[in-house]
Amino acid sequence: MLTLALKAALFVFLLYLGIRLAKKALKKWFVHLLGQSFQGGSKQEKSSHLQACSHCGTQVAVELGKTRNGNFYCSQECAKKGPKL
Ligand SMILES: [Zn+2]
Repeated sequence: MLTLALKAALFVFLLYLGIRLAKKALKKWFVHLLGQSFQGGSKQEKSSHLQACSHCGTQVAVELGKTRNGNFYCSQECAKKGPKL
């Protein structure tokens, strides 16, 4: 009776270990697949992707600006005024 419980405990432990290892491997594979976008990749993109406003020429991060009729603007006000360059 005791050995059966021991076997069951060992089985559960091994299953848990296997799932943990599988999760780690899956995560590694995913990170590799998506080009390390999981580990701070988005932070780098925020600072490196600057674009000039079509109206005033100010360099603004792409996520913070607005796109209207194919042109990029730093703010809603510039977008309303339209391209100047
Ligand atoms: Zn602007």
